[in-house]
Amino acid sequence: MRFFTPTDVYLEENCVANHKKELLACGSKAFIVTGKNSSRINGSLSDVTSVLDEADVPYRIFNDIEENPSVETVAKAAAIGKEFQADFVIGIGGGSPLDAAKAIALLMANPEENEDCFYQPKDLKNLPVVAVPTTCGTGSEVTPNAVLTRHAQKTKKSISYRIFPELALVDGKYLSFASRKLLIHTAVDALAHCLESRLHKNSNCYNRMFSEYGLRLWGETVPALLSDEQASPDAKTCEKLMLISTVAGMAIAQTGTSLPHALSYEITYNHGTAHGMACGLFLASYLEDYASHDKEETEQVLTLLGFSSLEAFRSCISSLIGTVSISEAELNLYADNVMNNPSKLSTYPFAIDREGIAAILRNSLEVKGE
Ligand code: NAP
Ligand code: ZN
Repeated sequence: MRFFTPTDVYLEENCVANHKKELLACGSKAFIVTGKNSSRINGSLSDVTSVLDEADVPYRIFNDIEENPSVETVAKAAAIGKEFQADFVIGIGGGSPLDAAKAIALLMANPEENEDCFYQPKDLKNLPVVAVPTTCGTGSEVTPNAVLTRHAQKTKKSISYRIFPELALVDGKYLSFASRKLLIHTAVDALAHCLESRLHKNSNCYNRMFSEYGLRLWGETVPALLSDEQASPDAKTCEKLMLISTVAGMAIAQTGTSLPHALSYEITYNHGTAHGMACGLFLASYLEDYASHDKEETEQVLTLLGFSSLEAFRSCISSLIGTVSISEAELNLYADNVMNNPSKLSTYPFAIDREGIAAILRNSLEVKGE
């Protein structure tokens, strides 16, 4: 058994300011990687630049990371970072800028390489990465994964390198700027991480501690997530949502994700569905299939979450995220694509054939006739 989590993680209010010493210890010239707008609005970018300004640390900002960042965007950003000769990368935002920051840190540390190296088995080092998350889903601040969109392959895939951030500075206050939809989608992503890690083929008692704690905490947030209030939840709930996200990230850092994530990449790539929603769509039917092999394990998961039945869980997730419509031809294509991903299929502890995958797709989505 092994448990490995090398990231130095702090979670508290005003985390970046409180831990400026740790942030400044990561390097002497910073390349900041962020999304288009949100980090300016929620204060996370100015929290970081204030620390750098105060210490006279030079930095350059790349604020053009799109949702589900592409290999092309990452390569463009890395070229700017290399030219600036930064010696560490700070990712600020949701999972998209954090994942991009990791891939950029890899390219910047290996100037002789280009983006072709992302999916090649080479022994490459990366520049140190600092992660400041502003959504409560991916846990990218504590995972070694960097999921990129590969337009050439028409899908998304994690790069082949394990890049744990050196430092994660986590502050729930940024979530008070998030829309309810963003909160729900990203919280459902964290739920998917807890569930998929708990039921993963390589699950052991270490990752289970994290998954099970995350599942219990997630159950406690259901009333706040289901609330009709448009205002953001209170500071305590925001901090709890961030905690769940990091705990879930620590769980998948050990096991990786499983079938709902494999299926979600098809839905996000082809229908533009947000990552957390795309994963959430499959959770109930995935649990249903799992229960047909091992009822006890699924009941344990539902109990931790506070649901009395799989149907109560399905109904809660469906009220939170709604549904997506696909055609019969799309269903067949996505089932074929997932069957062509043996490494993801092998994360499921039981044998599953094309029919089983197609059934999960059919039971999770609205399938329209041609
Ligand atoms: P995201 O794609 O990073 O961001 C979604 C949207 O939320 C963007 O429009 C962003 O705006 C906005 N936003 C971010 N923080 C905000 C805040 N505090 N207030 C208001 N708006 C905010 O979303 P995400 O769900 O966190 O990340 C999804 C990506 O992570 C996917 O590519 C997924 O594959 C990946 N992922 C990675 C891991 C991992 O282990 N590394 C795990 C799961 C998923 P701006 O663009 O203006 O910033
Ligand atoms: Zn995810």
